[in-house]
Amino acid sequence: MISVSDVLDELHSSLSDGQVITDPDVIDSYRRDQTPALAPGQPLCVVAARATADVTATLAWAQRHEVPVVPRGGGTSLAGGATATDGCVVLSTATMSAICEVDPDNEVAVAQAGVLNADLDRAAAAYGLMYAPDPSSYEISTIGGNLATNAGGLRCVKYGVTRDSVLGLEVVLAGGRVLRTGRRTVKGVAGYDLTSLFVGSEGTLGVITSATLRLRPRPPVYPRTVAASFANFEAGARAVTAIIAARVKPSLLELMDRATLRAIDDWKHTGFGDGVQALLIAQDDSDAAEAGAERMRELCVEHGATMAEVSGSDDESRQLLELRRLSYPALERLGVPLVEDVCVPRTLLPDMVARIEQAGQRHGVFIATVAHAGDGNLHPVFVFERGLPEVPRPVWSAADEVFRAALELGGTLTGEHGVGVIKRRWLADELGPESMAVHQAIKNALDPAGILNPGKAI
Ligand SMILES: Cc1cc2nc3c(=O)[nH]c(=O)nc-3n(C[C@H](O)[C@H](O)[C@H](O)COP(=O)(O)OP(=O)(O)OC[C@H]3O[C@@H](n4cnc5c(N)ncnc54)[C@H](O)[C@@H]3O)c2cc1C
Repeated sequence: MISVSDVLDELHSSLSDGQVITDPDVIDSYRRDQTPALAPGQPLCVVAARATADVTATLAWAQRHEVPVVPRGGGTSLAGGATATDGCVVLSTATMSAICEVDPDNEVAVAQAGVLNADLDRAAAAYGLMYAPDPSSYEISTIGGNLATNAGGLRCVKYGVTRDSVLGLEVVLAGGRVLRTGRRTVKGVAGYDLTSLFVGSEGTLGVITSATLRLRPRPPVYPRTVAASFANFEAGARAVTAIIAARVKPSLLELMDRATLRAIDDWKHTGFGDGVQALLIAQDDSDAAEAGAERMRELCVEHGATMAEVSGSDDESRQLLELRRLSYPALERLGVPLVEDVCVPRTLLPDMVARIEQAGQRHGVFIATVAHAGDGNLHPVFVFERGLPEVPRPVWSAADEVFRAALELGGTLTGEHGVGVIKRRWLADELGPESMAVHQAIKNALDPAGILNPGKAI
């Protein structure tokens, strides 16, 4: 019988020095992602891929020896998608970080999977362009991870999610074959839309090694920003609904509740702690930004804002946005944050907000909510005591209620973070038996041995 060390030797011999990592301390740092209180497995090794050929060699080896493969980018998943399974190889594409091409005339870039989202956006900025999808983790998450989760972000309300910015992919399939999907033209309908199949597949169908991505013109000036406070979160949500219904086209529409504002204020002394029950931040980045921002301010006042102002300077706008980006670290200071991710039709945002508050009260769980409100995408953050071996039962009971409420309202369990490990038990409730069977058939066709990110996503 072949020993583990023989199996590892074979992998070493297919890759360059230093690419196969077996040091226990280093391996330990690849076991978890940013999802709290999940018990990760113990990997056999980590592979730091530098080129497509390394991914090919690793997947061929994994297939031969039936070793599970956990693809990994920045490890910022909030759904447990990049947590290790026992005996797996963690295949890191973070080390494939070349921006191969920026073609400003065609508004296209080609990037390897490990490029950080913000680095691609900065490279595009040099040509007056932008890479629009901007998850709050943009400085630490990779293009490969963003594609595998179909990540959203703050600008998505105007520019769409990751799927709307991808034209084609290079993917290594189970066993090591290299597949190229899509094209570099803006239009194109030949064949099935395999690009979309891999976007959001959470590492369960193949490993993305590079992508042809769509860039967009960068707004020439900094967006105009509106800040509005409300007597409660539901009132803020109603103002969001009114802004959307008025056909104003915000480039950002974010809502934070009182618990989040207090957590930020306790830390940074922002002045938004006392009395402000909900804060809406809205931006317009169009040529008519001044008028658009003023219209949003008026709509906030008409819908009960206790304060609504258009920011006086770019600096003030940046500070407001920074406030929004501080939500997660501020809540992390209070305990362990389990960040959830439901999404509902935008007109039902106030109903969903009410259901989240009821769930928190019923189960005695502290929930702070921030929302990409313009997309109907809410992040109820369940904060619990540090040092517990697992997520406490009342937290799951409250989360269960929140998920079911989202589905009842015609929404989804996850707007952008993915199913990962933590939402698998609710997936069939959303998809139904036919869709689940089709998912399984696709998985079986592309990964018959079931070794690509097992136990995740479906
Ligand atoms: C502070 C913070 C803020 C966040 N804000 C947002 C937000 O605004 N919007 C949002 O959508 N998400 C957000 N997230 C979640 C997370 O950043 C995203 O899901 C992101 O897309 C993950 O990218 P990553 O490179 O870290 O991937 P990882 O966490 O490493 O992996 C995520 C998933 O993708 C798979 N994967 C990774 N690389 C590849 C590859 N090359 N090929 C195939 N599969 C791969 C993994 O197996 C896993 O299933 C946030 C997370 C944090 C910690």
